[in-house]
Amino acid sequence: MSRARVLVMNSALGPLDYRVPHGMVVEPGSVVVAPLGPRQLLGIVWEPERMPSDAEVGDNRLRNLMGVLPVPPLADPLRRLIEWTADYYLAPPAAVARMALASTSALEGAKLVTEYRATGEVPPRLTPQREQALERIGIHQGLIRELATIGGVSDAVVRGLVKAGAFEAVEVDIDAPFPLPDPAHGVPALSADQRAAAAALVRDVEAEAFQPTLLDGVTGSGKTEVYFEAIAAAIRAGKQSLVLLPEIALTEPFLKRFAARFGCAPVAWHSGLRQSQRRRAWRQIAEGQALVTVGARSSLFLPYRDLGLIVVDEAHETSFKQEEGVHYHARDVAVMRGKFEGCPVILASATPAIETRQQVANGRYAELKLPGRWGAAEMPAIQPIDLIAEPPERGRWIAPRLVTAIEETLERKEQVLLFLNRRGYAPLTLCRTCGHRFQCPNCTSWMVEHRLTRRLACHHCGHVEPIPRACPECGAENTLVPVGPGVERIADEVKLLFPEAKVAVVTSDTIWSPAKAAEFVARMEAHDIDIIVGTQLVTKGYHFPNLTLVGVIDADLGLEGGDLRASERTFQQIMQVAGRAGRGAKPGHVYLQTHSPNAAVMRALVTGDADAFYAAETESRREAGAPPFGRFAAIVVSSEDLNAAQDTAKAIGRAAPEIEAMHVYGPAPAPLAMLRGRHRFRLLVHARRALDVQDVIRDWLGRLDWPSKVRVVVDVDPYSFL
Ligand code: ADP
Ligand code: ZN
Repeated sequence: MSRARVLVMNSALGPLDYRVPHGMVVEPGSVVVAPLGPRQLLGIVWEPERMPSDAEVGDNRLRNLMGVLPVPPLADPLRRLIEWTADYYLAPPAAVARMALASTSALEGAKLVTEYRATGEVPPRLTPQREQALERIGIHQGLIRELATIGGVSDAVVRGLVKAGAFEAVEVDIDAPFPLPDPAHGVPALSADQRAAAAALVRDVEAEAFQPTLLDGVTGSGKTEVYFEAIAAAIRAGKQSLVLLPEIALTEPFLKRFAARFGCAPVAWHSGLRQSQRRRAWRQIAEGQALVTVGARSSLFLPYRDLGLIVVDEAHETSFKQEEGVHYHARDVAVMRGKFEGCPVILASATPAIETRQQVANGRYAELKLPGRWGAAEMPAIQPIDLIAEPPERGRWIAPRLVTAIEETLERKEQVLLFLNRRGYAPLTLCRTCGHRFQCPNCTSWMVEHRLTRRLACHHCGHVEPIPRACPECGAENTLVPVGPGVERIADEVKLLFPEAKVAVVTSDTIWSPAKAAEFVARMEAHDIDIIVGTQLVTKGYHFPNLTLVGVIDADLGLEGGDLRASERTFQQIMQVAGRAGRGAKPGHVYLQTHSPNAAVMRALVTGDADAFYAAETESRREAGAPPFGRFAAIVVSSEDLNAAQDTAKAIGRAAPEIEAMHVYGPAPAPLAMLRGRHRFRLLVHARRALDVQDVIRDWLGRLDWPSKVRVVVDVDPYSFL
């Protein structure tokens, strides 16, 4: 009698045991169909010793597995990754495993279609149409419809040729193989620094062993060119590579550069794929045919057959942290996948996170540096504009010195980027008569006016309303005034100042798909845009040689809220956006509008002394026992019922274990005290590094119960403190 332990795809259940019926063969990693009550569930066969079950069922009570799906079993390194992720982030293993089975259609295995191709036989007495079809179709193979199009004839003509024996049917897999990238296609001439870094990375790939490396190069130093050489080495070895990007918007420019280097596009994986594209990518990745995948964080859990390299580009980006479902950090999970796969992991960044720098300092990660920009390009000079000493005109947001700089840049026919990390027209709308402010009905947040769409929108839950004519509180008409600037308001100001200039607002409201991003890049390249007014969406990845001026409208914005990474994030964001200036032959200039030019982060940006800034930040983290020297975990309790949420949060707080190496703050109402109609309370756990805080929390929460209308979410290593 053979039994199997199965991780069923239901997060509420633990692993279950089944009988493997006679004639069925399973092994760890096999994807199976298992009965549960009257239903059928997908599941993955697991080693019983690695996934204990608390409900041991006797042999005679086991139900039979119903089938094994025709896909390769999930390999050992992926199963270890799923276990580690579930364990570290306190998530149900099924919720993690589901990310690996990301295409249900692919799990059904190969699907065949009938295509046709020429047999070489030419039937006697050809009609002119048949003759034309034969000639034009030549050696092409395809569906009847496709061949008819190529031949410029009707489907019936092609069918006639099939009957006459000129074409024959062939059964092919609908998931066509991807073109193979060619490492010898567009080999660049590397600078000496680039060559040295590339050689080290190539050696790591050839060693086929786990080795994390920080590729630390200033913006425009050619980090992409350098890690492309490591990818080339992996391709030559017949191994797969994965490149993680922080945002889909960056995919498009990446695909172009990749094609220029390797002669064809890589396989893209992101949430915008159609079902047929997902299916094809998943199957070819699992079969090892897809050699290079570029994707968002979810591509980390795909079933690569033979991974030889992982690259995390813009590795400092906090958008690698997933904030819903399984709260994982893709950068950290990428390193773990490299460890289980036994392959190098490259973290590329111009502004590496303190956590990553610390791993270099303690010798766990190697470091490669690219200290200068490629070619003739120089790093831009950064100058502060003190908004108190040099204020903009009343009701305006751009200081006179920046206005002059824009004017001069436009005269030289160069392009400008104005950066403000605020979507919409104004962050707050209020009634001039009674002071009424517009708040989201579902969240503790102000409604943001969007003039382009003529609506008020909540940026937390997506709630929108029309902008009313009259104040809902006092009824006065036309008394609503916008307070503060968003990108749309800056764009209006720019249009007023430079009526001739072509202005584009670039935010997630205007660039919401890879196609939109491609359109934006094409417009920049055709110089169909003079001035970009954009959010963080334009701060990274893009390379526009004619963009020479960057103006930061409100450099202080990121310091608001003041969580532990606020200064670091401000530094990174402004260095990145400054890095868009002067990437070609023409020098770049950057102006920072700030109310606090003497803040440490502003001084570091202006003097370019990143090392001193990081040293001071690192020291203050060390003193506070903050990450990476200590650890945080947030416990967020939410419910539509305020009292239920509060009571549960208090009960969790009361049950907190007394441990010397750990301190629990709260519960307190979260800064976003209401989100999507749910009241929220937070507890913050602060622990010494050495403490296995996950174990403590698992134990602590495991002893408690709460009503089903209350949700308790644990965020390990939180990045958001809202
Ligand atoms: P980073 O990612 O470090 O900001 P990129 O890889 O985007 O820098 O490189 C900046 C620009 O310089 C790109 O247009 C890139 O094609 C070009 N470049 C860098 N190195 C080389 C090289 N060795 N040969 C040709 N072009 C290069
Ligand atoms: Zn809302």
